[in-house]
Amino acid sequence: MPQQQAVWSSVGSEAGAGGTYHAISPIDGSFIAEVSLASDEQYERTVAGAHKTFLEWRKVPAPERGQLIREIAELLRRKKRELGLLITSEVGKIVAEGEGEVQEAIDIADFAVGLSRQLYGRTMHSERRTHRMFEQWHPLGVVGVITAFNFPAAVWAWNAFVAAVCGDTIVWKPSERGLATAVAMTELCGEVAHRWGMTGLFSLISDSDARLGMRLADDPRIALVSATGSVGMGRSVAETVARRLGRTLLELGGNNAVIVLEDADISLAVRSILFGAVGTAGQRCTTTRRLFAERSIIDELQQRLVSDYQQIAIGDPRNANNLMGPLISEQSVRQFEKAVATAQDQGAIVLCGGARIDGMPSPLYVQPTILRVDRPIPLMKEETFAPILYLCPVEDIDEAILFQNDVPQGLSSALFTSSMRHTEQFVSCLGSDCGIANVNLGTSGAEIGGAFGGEKDTGGGRESGSDSWKQYMRRQTNTLNFGSALPLAQGIVFG
Ligand code: NAD
Repeated sequence: MPQQQAVWSSVGSEAGAGGTYHAISPIDGSFIAEVSLASDEQYERTVAGAHKTFLEWRKVPAPERGQLIREIAELLRRKKRELGLLITSEVGKIVAEGEGEVQEAIDIADFAVGLSRQLYGRTMHSERRTHRMFEQWHPLGVVGVITAFNFPAAVWAWNAFVAAVCGDTIVWKPSERGLATAVAMTELCGEVAHRWGMTGLFSLISDSDARLGMRLADDPRIALVSATGSVGMGRSVAETVARRLGRTLLELGGNNAVIVLEDADISLAVRSILFGAVGTAGQRCTTTRRLFAERSIIDELQQRLVSDYQQIAIGDPRNANNLMGPLISEQSVRQFEKAVATAQDQGAIVLCGGARIDGMPSPLYVQPTILRVDRPIPLMKEETFAPILYLCPVEDIDEAILFQNDVPQGLSSALFTSSMRHTEQFVSCLGSDCGIANVNLGTSGAEIGGAFGGEKDTGGGRESGSDSWKQYMRRQTNTLNFGSALPLAQGIVFG
């Protein structure tokens, strides 16, 4: 990729006292960029700079803050192709998904621009005469954003653009597997911030492991730590931040299920399952990992899925004909292989896939895999971040919901049915226990307008649309007395 090297190799040009990191593509092992890593002193300067900028940025009226984000949205529109290709090169997702990720960043920027005029507080009727009561939302401070490798641009954008219109400044600790994309995003957005005299609005601490992420969690200057990644990482961050009574927003692992009932449109279900289970090579937090089907239709579903799986074009994701690229690392491939072996030990039968593919541009390509089980096996409670789908029969919707909910994670879920009763049951409080529950569409590919996140081990956080913005602000309740008497609440007479 000589052209890309020319564009991006200069990024992160401050001499890295913390050393350097070579971003290597999982597609073919080629060099993408050399990124400077932050030293402890650079960490210190970055957080201090973000705090200094916060003291100024909070004075800018929210609709004006929205204008800065509007400029970023326009810049991202112009850079969509290049950024999309960089994401593809760095994490191996197909070009359509790489560009789709940049589109997601543009969409959340547009959303944040509108939001900048809608950071509404409520007014309440005071129980006391000549009193007025209301609440306001004020900027929170410096927000630390820790991100996972699989969405190296969009997850930061969900946090950063919403936090910025809320009046916060943002310090980003990306995954080392997404460093080149993180540098490119920060440079583009930082350029706009710099023009506005707000250098320090978006800053980056590049690290080749978790060390500076742990430091961020422990830093009392970071008002909110928004962390996306594995459940283990979330537990560590939550414990550290809780010790200093800070705030967290956690977006952790998923273990998402699709339920297909006998009255479902099977073609619709098959297409959704295919995208949900195989898209991004099974490396989305919302990837479909478990499939529960009623006995009367499970054989037809199995036969159609196995046939479609065998036709999926796998290879260099920059080739538009391919639908699946590589896994991110050798460790991911080993985890995939281990999961297939363990599942077989626990009674699963491999219907298709199950192995690494030889003769690819790198050793990181695996076959998308379907494993058939008679009942849920213990391994199905774990998230293996790879394209493995478990297919399991169920007696009816009650058993399906029981199995679906019987895992520690609670991110995304989907039901395929044409029954209004089953639909209502699934989305009721007796149905799915996940943060996302869809009917007649799959588990992955959420829109930015809704609040995104999950329950239980997924961490309970909500990002992106709806009223998620409230987490990036502090609420203040105000009561004003415009009379000369001093009535006490609850009718208390004192003295
Ligand atoms: P990971 O947990 O290995 O790393 C995520 C980030 O956390 C990285 O930047 C890493 O350096 C940092 N980190 C790790 N340990 C830390 C610690 N103790 N303190 C502070 N920072 C720490 O995850 P990954 O392999 O990059 O991504 C895959 C995981 O992310 C999957 O479990 C996936 O489901 C999850 N994910 C969740 C969402 C969501 O919105 N729920 C979105 C994307 C990915």
